[in-house]
Amino acid sequence: MSDPDCIFCQIVAGELPSQKIDEDERTIAFMDISPATRGHALVIPRAHAVDLTEIAAEDLQATILAAQRLARRDFERLHCDGVNLINSCRSAAWQTVFHFHIHVIPRYDDDPLRLPWTPAPGDQDEIAAVAEVLR
Ligand code: 5GP
Ligand code: ZN
Repeated sequence: MSDPDCIFCQIVAGELPSQKIDEDERTIAFMDISPATRGHALVIPRAHAVDLTEIAAEDLQATILAAQRLARRDFERLHCDGVNLINSCRSAAWQTVFHFHIHVIPRYDDDPLRLPWTPAPGDQDEIAAVAEVLR
């Protein structure tokens, strides 16, 4: 339920300060300490879960609904032009805090964020082969 060594569990418990902006029975949301853009927030389940593969279905559902709530608020109150939801699952995917979280990042037409990959058509045989593995 809670990991005493986890900083996000400590935020849930009120043992570490945070700028909390939303909460419900299963989730809390607070401002990211190193914001990518104005309004960058994190939504987390109250119950400790390391990542996407481990979070309970009810907590995942509550967390994504809270992210939607915040995204709508971002449009209304920050007048952003877009929103990215980002979840990183494990170190290879940039996860640095191992308590599941969704980044809610307001986007502005003139902000400096860029896609981390360069879109280019892939090899059709490779795409089909990996699709077969995933079916
Ligand atoms: P990750 O890299 O795991 O996807 O995201 C972790 C996020 O947590 C980072 O964006 C980082 O800035 C944020 N973060 C790390 N420590 C703290 C903290 O103590 N308080 C808050 N509010 N955010 C934190
Ligand atoms: Zn935790």
